Amino acid sequence: MTQKNNPLPCPFCGAENVTIEEGSTYRWAHASCAECGAAASDIRRQYGQGTDNPEVQEAALAEWNIRDRRDIDRLQRELAEARAFISTTIDAPKDYPAEEGM
Ligand SMILES: [Zn+2]
Repeated sequence: MTQKNNPLPCPFCGAENVTIEEGSTYRWAHASCAECGAAASDIRRQYGQGTDNPEVQEAALAEWNIRDRRDIDRLQRELAEARAFISTTIDAPKDYPAEEGM
């Protein structure tokens, strides 16, 4: 693999172990984080090209590397909000009144 094909670190977990996997059918492939499973969009491959084909790998890694920074920022913000919500739900005291007033 040449230098220009090196995958950027995973925007979600920071891992640098990115693999090329089969897509939804034999016509597709995509780059995926080996740690958290985050995946880039599928790219089309020619008949007979495996996921180890250099052209397939280059196209899949290019797709992995061009993801829109705004999408990543939005997803990270939503993830932080979800984690905060989950922690308040789980950490709530057991005797906390379910309903007040009324
Ligand atoms: Zn990851």
